Amino acid sequence: MKRIIIHWTAGTYTPNEHEKNCYHYLIAFNPKNNAAYQVNGRFKPEDNLNCYDGKYAAHTGGGNTGSIGVSLCAMGGYKNITEVGNYPIRQEQLNLLYKLCSQLSKKYSIPINSNCILTHYEFGLKNPNTISKGKIDIVYLPSQPNIICSNVGDYIRNNIKKYV
Ligand SMILES: [Zn+2]
Repeated sequence: MKRIIIHWTAGTYTPNEHEKNCYHYLIAFNPKNNAAYQVNGRFKPEDNLNCYDGKYAAHTGGGNTGSIGVSLCAMGGYKNITEVGNYPIRQEQLNLLYKLCSQLSKKYSIPINSNCILTHYEFGLKNPNTISKGKIDIVYLPSQPNIICSNVGDYIRNNIKKYV
């Protein structure tokens, strides 16, 4: 596995079957006890080594091969930073995201830099000839409202490094 791409589902705090098909790991949230928890998707990361057999997690158009897809279950109804909808990403979810990404980085020897651990938004910027161009996950963290879109990826990577 050569990289990790971080997403939001644009759904609720609980992943549905479609979302479980799209990502290898999902970070869900239970509002009753304020806890984030990991849900494994239908496919394993290794299923994305070969994306020609139809059995892989299709999370990043133009960039699925060799890519682990991790998604925060959140941001359904998001329109912009003043209308974030009913499922804003929670700090508890971010903490679990950092922990999971640090574990995956270690397991697969994936360096923590902007080429190898990046958001779908960043992938779209780097690969404007793919259908990932213009993706907005992740341009905004409701729990960190002062971080502008161009800094979200670095912010996430710096927090992943703290876990290593
Ligand atoms: Zn995405």
